[in-house]
Amino acid sequence: MQAWEEHVRKVVPYTPGEQPVCKDIIKLNTNENPYPPSPKALEVLQNIDGQLLRKYPDPEARQLVEELAGYYGRKTSEVFVGVGSDDVLAMSFLTFFNGQKPILFPDITYSFYDVWADLFRIPYECQPLDDKFKIRTKDYKKRCGGIVIPNPNAPTGVEKELSELEEIIAANRDVIVIIDEAYIDFGGTSAVKLLPEYDNLLVVQTFSKSRSLAGMRIGYAFGNEKLIKYLNDAKYSFNSYTMNTITAAMGAAAVRDDAYFKATIDKIISTREWTKQELARLGFTFPDSKSNFIFASHARRPAAEIFEALKVQGIYVRYFDKPRINNYLRITIGTDREMKALIEFLEKYLGENV
Ligand code: PMP
Repeated sequence: MQAWEEHVRKVVPYTPGEQPVCKDIIKLNTNENPYPPSPKALEVLQNIDGQLLRKYPDPEARQLVEELAGYYGRKTSEVFVGVGSDDVLAMSFLTFFNGQKPILFPDITYSFYDVWADLFRIPYECQPLDDKFKIRTKDYKKRCGGIVIPNPNAPTGVEKELSELEEIIAANRDVIVIIDEAYIDFGGTSAVKLLPEYDNLLVVQTFSKSRSLAGMRIGYAFGNEKLIKYLNDAKYSFNSYTMNTITAAMGAAAVRDDAYFKATIDKIISTREWTKQELARLGFTFPDSKSNFIFASHARRPAAEIFEALKVQGIYVRYFDKPRINNYLRITIGTDREMKALIEFLEKYLGENV
């Protein structure tokens, strides 16, 4: 070790899902939307005046903030936007989790939370899910430095009832509770409606899943004015121009195209329900999912083997080699054609491997 290495901020980074360059694969590994972004958003991209890019973007991304505020019935001062919800969440950890007490989140959850906690030197305590992969309300009713809960949870897809989340938010009024709603649009009930009641609540959402814009990197959060002001103060102390001109304009157009948004979600939900039936028929078990993925395990074949066999076939799903979940596959919902190809392969594979 070099002497200077002693002063390096050492972190074990988050490992994102693979993004293979090869085009002929069925990609069900990173919870992307299989459908294209709204044609209205793509129109904005095609018609963008290149001369605009000479100038810095609007640091407040007002066009997008106004559209989001209007759509969700909030004031613009209650909206924060960032470069994907990862950026919004990272900024929120930095801003709100600044105490001595550990923050709380589930033991099986989005694996970026502990990475940010380590990066920002935030103490944390993971709360075990029950044997049905459910978050236990009572685990979050103790003194702590803050709470972050994804709803639905990832990678399980399990939704927690809003009334139970409200119990947690109400029991923790002296700290910030972040509800990460990356997958809420696929049939869950959003905590946005609790915002008028709770000044300690931050609801975070993304354009990466339900709005098919993972590549543009747009995330946002709703909270009361004071909380959003604190978030913006931290953001402007870090980088004023996080969101570029094109992204803000495309995001605003995507929000305006509500019909396309709803139609895409309906398609994904119906494909998900079909996939659930087919996986069950093939002997898979899974907690009920309210997201755009299914977390499935097979009684006879180890998940790691199925994962490899699928990959050879050009079907990418996600496998986490971690305690309690190392016999599960997280399968993103693709198009009907993609899911049929998955099921056909699994049927053949499992038939041959009895
Ligand atoms: N939260 C959860 C629970 C997620 O699964 C993801 C996707 N990896 C994110 C946040 C971040 O998504 P993005 O940065 O694309 O908005």
